[in-house]
Parts: sequence; C-alpha cells; structure tokens
Amino acid sequence: MELENIIQMRAGKLFVPNKIIIPVIPGDGIGPEVWAATKMVIECAIRKAYGDNRSINFLPVLAGEVAFHQTGSWLPDETLEQFRKFRIGIKGPMTTPIGGGIRSLNVALRKELDLYACVRPIRWFHGVPAPVKHPEIMNITIFRENTEDVYSGIEFEADSTEANQFFQLISDNFPDEKQKIRFNENVAFGIKPISMEGSKRLVRAAVNYALKFGKKTVTLVHKGNIMKFTEGGFLNWGYQVGTDEFPDQVYTSQQWQKTREMYGDEIAGQEKESALQNGKIWMNDIITDAAFQQTLLYPQRFEVIATTNLNGDYLSDALAAQVGGIGIAPGANINYESGLAIFEATHGTAPGRAGKNLANPSSLILSAEMMLRYLGWDEAADLINEGLEQTYDKALITYDLAQFVPNSTQLGTIEFAAAVCESMKTI
Ligand code: NAD
Repeated sequence: MELENIIQMRAGKLFVPNKIIIPVIPGDGIGPEVWAATKMVIECAIRKAYGDNRSINFLPVLAGEVAFHQTGSWLPDETLEQFRKFRIGIKGPMTTPIGGGIRSLNVALRKELDLYACVRPIRWFHGVPAPVKHPEIMNITIFRENTEDVYSGIEFEADSTEANQFFQLISDNFPDEKQKIRFNENVAFGIKPISMEGSKRLVRAAVNYALKFGKKTVTLVHKGNIMKFTEGGFLNWGYQVGTDEFPDQVYTSQQWQKTREMYGDEIAGQEKESALQNGKIWMNDIITDAAFQQTLLYPQRFEVIATTNLNGDYLSDALAAQVGGIGIAPGANINYESGLAIFEATHGTAPGRAGKNLANPSSLILSAEMMLRYLGWDEAADLINEGLEQTYDKALITYDLAQFVPNSTQLGTIEFAAAVCESMKTI
C-alpha cells in the first residue's frame, strides 16, 4: 500500500501519485507554529483544487533540537532515509547546534542528500512594506550552488597542527604562492573547491527553469575577475552549458561578443535581436559587486540568476530585503537528477517569538507553494498564491509587518493561515 504513495523518478521526470507521503521537519522555536499554519493552507488548497482526488499525508521526522533531546543526534540517519525514500520533504527553521559536531543542520542536509540547487524566488506582494520605491518590478529567481565553494567546510584554524601542515605544504610545493600569504603566523586557511560538474549542473538547472517558466534572461553572477580559476571556472563552464547543451534555446553574450569582434557592432546587434526574437534566452554575466548595485537600481533587467554558494547566500537575502520579504521569502533545495528536494522557511527559529502565535508563516507557506508546483500540482499552488496576495492586499498581516502598515489588521499565526484559506476560491 505504502509503495503506491511513493514519488518516483522515471526517465528524468517525477512521477507523482495522487495520494502521497511527505516527510516534514516542523523545526524548533516558531517552527511548529508556522508549520501548523502552513499545513492548514496546503490542505485547504488541495481540497479546493482537487476535492478528495489528491492528498498529502505528512510524516513528521526528527531533526534539530527535538531530535537531539530525544535521540542524542541532531540529524538522525532515519530522517535522511525517510527523505531519500519519499523524495520530497518540507522543513521549518532549526536551531544551529553550538560547539562540536554538525556546524549547520541545513548545510548537512543539503550535503548528505546532494541537494545542489538552492532555489530562491524573490517577488513582492502588494501590501508588504518595502524599502525601495518600486518593489513591484522585482521578480528574480536565484539559483545558488549548494554543495561547493568556501562552504565545503574545509577550514584550518589559525595556529593548529593542520594549519601549520597546510602552510608547510604550500611552502614546500608552491613557493610563489607562499609569497602571497601576507602573514606567516597565526593564519587560518579555508579551501574553495569549484568543479566543472558542480557548476554545470547548477547552470543547467537554471536554464531548464527559465525554459519551463518562460523567463528570457539567465545571468551568471561571479567574481571571476579576481578568483580566475574558481569563480572564473564557474563562469566559463556556465557559458559552455548555454552554447553546448542548449544551442537552439540560448544565445550567450560570449557569442554576441565574438560576432562583434569579427563583424562589428551592427551585425552583432542584428544577430542578437534575431536570436531573442526567435525566443532564445539571453545568457549574460555580471561581477558580484556590480550585481548588488544593478539588482538594486535595475531589478527589471534580471530574471534568473545562477551563482556560486557564497555569492548566492549574500545576494538572496539582500534581494529579499529589497521587497520587504526577508521574513517571507521561500526557498527550496533540489537535486534535479534524483528528484530529491526539501522546501524550507528561509528565516530562523525566532526563539523570542516562539509559542506566542505571533510568527509570520508566509515563508513556509510560499515554500509549500513551490513544493506543489514542483509536484506538478499547479492548481493548488496557484490557489496559495492567490490566497496570500488577497490576504496581504486586505492588510491582514502578522505583527512583524503590521507595525509598519498603518490601518492594517494584526492577525496571529494560525488566524493568518485561516484568512489565506478563506481568500482562496474553490475551482
Ligand atoms: P531569526 O530569523 O530567527 O530572527 C531574526 C529576526 O527576525 C528576529 O527579530 C525574529 O523575531 C524575526 N523573525 C524571524 N522569522 C520570523 C517570522 N517568521 N515571523 C516574525 N518574525 C520573524 O534569526 P536569528 O535570531 O539569527 O537565529 C535564531 C536561530 O535560528 C539560530 O539558532 C540560527 O542559527 C537559526 N537559523 C536557522 C535557519 C534555518 O533553519 N533555515 C536560518 C537562520 C537562522
């Protein structure tokens, strides 16, 4: 019986039965409250979209503080096995363990399950207070590489045996590089692995997403001007994906540049115009610092961003802040080959707010919207979007936003979820 409920991957495509089981980590702090609200909204959307024909049975699994208290492990093996078995899961925020063992549960989950793409769509909701004049022109999805870069966790503490050995290794084998280390003592080291395979699969995922959702631009964000082989590698491999793997769907700024050098501005301009008129996606690139400026000044020039781990970490929060959505931005961690995916709230556990029915559940609700779309249950996903849009539009909001919106009505976490459900029409 249970096997019938399992999501499978067949020939690169997800096969989703009508009745499925999805493991859930409610999380710590405000996690259980925002999860209860999200569950209410998901079940309401599915009921309104499909009646009894489709359903999700949520299976709570252990991770974080709760898991530690019950089992002595922050991330029990059984939890990882359940995610592998059922393929798609959802999670609330988790307390980061302090001292020893796992550095971050989120990083551990992503690495263990090889969830290489961190997908963060960033858009504005009418009624949400934002610090910029025109938050409505922002509609950007960031694909952040999740498994490499300085986040690989290879670091040697200053003055440790490992750091000294590492320093010796460089001194013995790479004397020129040794000269580049400014101070020879009390120096810590970190390693930044960036591979062709890791970069290509991330950019491939971004292009496939752009094609699926009718986006016209994919921008590679990198710091290849300084880190020529790591960030520069990401850039070159990214362009290779465009030209080698999607020759009929993508036109790159490298191709345009080449034509320009050979035949001049006019011919290059015509070639570009014709490619874009024929529906090709424009793949370009930008250096990270400029990306921070340009996404603030001209967000409308960006649609899908593909970038390395650290760049993506900074950029996703900066862009979310621009639309007032730092507490409401959703996120997903996906491996498009295995189909494994975990959808998550992007904020933390807000311990000071826990247990007070105050937290804003929008981040997890929007992550659930992404999850339903990933499952191919678009009708239910659309209902959630619509429900949220209308609730914000009516200025029915939680305390975090209500304090900035005059004449708004402040709702508790679960009352907000109920208002979202009420705003969804039955189809
Ligand atoms: P936080 O996101 O928990 O809180 C930052 C501020 O935002 C606080 O003022 C909080 O009250 C508010 N806030 C956050 N989410 C909110 C919501 N949904 N509704 C209303 N207000 C909200 O960040 P922090 O205080 O730096 O971290 C607390 C804990 O959460 C730490 O253990 C941290 O490591 C962890 N954390 C986990 C995740 C995750 O699991 N994805 C992400 C970030 C932080």
